[in-house]
Amino acid sequence: MIPIAKPIITDKEKEKIMQVMDSGMLACGQFVKDFEEKFSDYIGCNYGIATSSGTTALDIALKSAGIKEGDKIITTPFTFIASSNSILYSGAEPVFVDIDRNTFNISPDLIREKMEENPGIKALLIVHLYGLPCNMDEIMDIVDEYNLILIEDCAQAHGAEYCSQKVGTFGDVAIFSFYPTKNMTTGEGGIVLTSNKEIMERARLLVNHGQSSRYYHEILGYNYRMTNIAAAIGLVQLEKLDTFNKQRQENAAYLTDNLNNLEYIEVPQVPKNYFHSFHQYTIKVEQREQLISCLQEKEIGYGVHYPIPVYKQPFYQKQGYDRLNLPVCEELSKKVISLPVHPSLSKEDLKLIVETIKSFK
Ligand SMILES: *Cc1c(COP(=O)(O)O)cnc(C)c1O
Repeated sequence: MIPIAKPIITDKEKEKIMQVMDSGMLACGQFVKDFEEKFSDYIGCNYGIATSSGTTALDIALKSAGIKEGDKIITTPFTFIASSNSILYSGAEPVFVDIDRNTFNISPDLIREKMEENPGIKALLIVHLYGLPCNMDEIMDIVDEYNLILIEDCAQAHGAEYCSQKVGTFGDVAIFSFYPTKNMTTGEGGIVLTSNKEIMERARLLVNHGQSSRYYHEILGYNYRMTNIAAAIGLVQLEKLDTFNKQRQENAAYLTDNLNNLEYIEVPQVPKNYFHSFHQYTIKVEQREQLISCLQEKEIGYGVHYPIPVYKQPFYQKQGYDRLNLPVCEELSKKVISLPVHPSLSKEDLKLIVETIKSFK
């Protein structure tokens, strides 16, 4: 079986975890502090606040950026549910804008249209889907013109770059996830990054029950803290992230070189000056069900990211999105399929994936 995702855990992670065990400080402590510093340095932000997951990081990011009940926030419908759920956690309202067919990311042209219709919109929550950065020149023009708060969901884009600048450094605040399927892991975990001191200070309070000093609670907060055990794994994984990403890119290049000329599928495109971190290698195919049968027969893992646009989910339908129709994401949700691209694939694995897709039809 070739899995769709596989974390690479070696003796180095195990040794670091044992250091935590021996220290007796299992919860939040020095390892978390080190991880926050190293990860925020790596991305290029002044501050990092580690969290228990990418989802809790999103919740904190929006609240610390000042998102409040009733605010309207533009976002993409073609993502994991956590992105827009975080808007609901703040009592704010997601305004879904359709995606670009080639990049799978939210369409800057359609954001502009929506802003012209509704200039009261307060923020923009973008997702660099599959590890491909959004078009940041166009996004930043809109953000500047309308004075929007920009939140970057980088849960799939550790180390991805737009014009040599890492994603996570463009907005007011950004989040990453360290779930085991992502480009690097801490088990469960996440982080909020910002270079804005006020946002950092609010995020620090929010993740830790609003405590500014022991048992003194300034605001309503949560326990969303990362553990030292998770941070220990993250410290080792971070050192390997560039190597992991390079391997993902090489695997993606191999798939693209060999699948590019098949007329019944469309391989992912990487525009010039984009550094794609290939969290997923996602192709478009008309006959997805048949392709899935072939992959299953050869025991090749796959994923459908995502089969249902967020606003089509039952919970969102009940929230009043039942009349919304965004044609591009609806069409692509029926055509996309992700193939294994993770760094533990062997040459034989890659060959089998290529042969299976070539023999399909
Ligand atoms: C994984 C993911 C999240 C949530 O991260 P968790 O760590 O699983 O809570 C949020 N947004 C996107 C785009 C993701 O892929």
